[in-house]
Amino acid sequence: MNHKKVAVITGGSGVLCSVMALHMAKNGYKVAILGRRQSVIDALVDQIVGEGGVAIGVATDVLRQDLLEEAHKQVNEKLGPCDVLINGAGGNHMDATTKEPLLIPEELEKGFFGLRLDGVRSVFDLNFLGTFLPSQVFGKDMVTTGGGNIINISSMSAYSPLTKVMAYSAAKAAVSNLTEWMAVHFAAAGIRVNAMAPGFFLTNQNRSLLTTEDGSLTQRGNTIIGKTPMKRFGKPEELLSTLDWMLDERSSFITGTVIPIDGGFNAFSGV
Ligand code: NAD
Repeated sequence: MNHKKVAVITGGSGVLCSVMALHMAKNGYKVAILGRRQSVIDALVDQIVGEGGVAIGVATDVLRQDLLEEAHKQVNEKLGPCDVLINGAGGNHMDATTKEPLLIPEELEKGFFGLRLDGVRSVFDLNFLGTFLPSQVFGKDMVTTGGGNIINISSMSAYSPLTKVMAYSAAKAAVSNLTEWMAVHFAAAGIRVNAMAPGFFLTNQNRSLLTTEDGSLTQRGNTIIGKTPMKRFGKPEELLSTLDWMLDERSSFITGTVIPIDGGFNAFSGV
């Protein structure tokens, strides 16, 4: 296979983005997996290389500019300039999640008033600054080479906030907004910026919110399936056709979009 373009994927060893990384490698991209834990990244790199692909793994932190600059150097030296950046690192944390969806005046700590500044800040930073910073570090390559693609990962919580996950919802709304902002700012430089807004995919981060230990649905899980016309969670592979479409040269006039991939969740009012 003729490996030409370089794709950098933050959170590339996570549940959704590892599927994207394997797919990109199969499609001829040289893939750089950026994540936190070297051992997890290495396992995915080995898998890609074992399947005939080209990949490197770099342990980094999307909130540390110095580490990102170091990762950028390594990617440039080993693979070349970045053509595609997928900003996949993101997620929620229990410290930024209320215990109850609606305020109970007798139990203020279980709601908004119990949220911890550190937790809120870390979730907001991870999703928003964790998209902004890698775009700043790797996007420069695209200016130099005359074009590229940035793909951000938003969420259903960006359209209407989901209960409990206040900081996550606000941060994903900011990611959608940043997607549009960057799309405008970079348009004349040939850099397209789009985002996927996945619905509900069962992953490590949301498993405890959506399922119980015996695998059955929690009340929240049931509510979500009840509001998903397709009546199921998504499968990571169901993100790939949108990724291909966003990156396709025939999509050259498409920028600034946020595409729901959600089994109809966003379209359904619940009635
Ligand atoms: P995941 O936890 O499997 O993947 C996230 C990855 O980001 C992990 O590999 C983690 O190590 C990495 N990461 C976290 N903090 C980091 C940091 N500071 N620096 C570098 N890497 C860091 O979760 P996922 O479900 O695959 O989520 C991927 C993206 O999709 C996230 O942005 C998430 O918010 C978004 N999303 C997920 C769902 C879903 O249903 N799973 C729905 C909508 C949006």
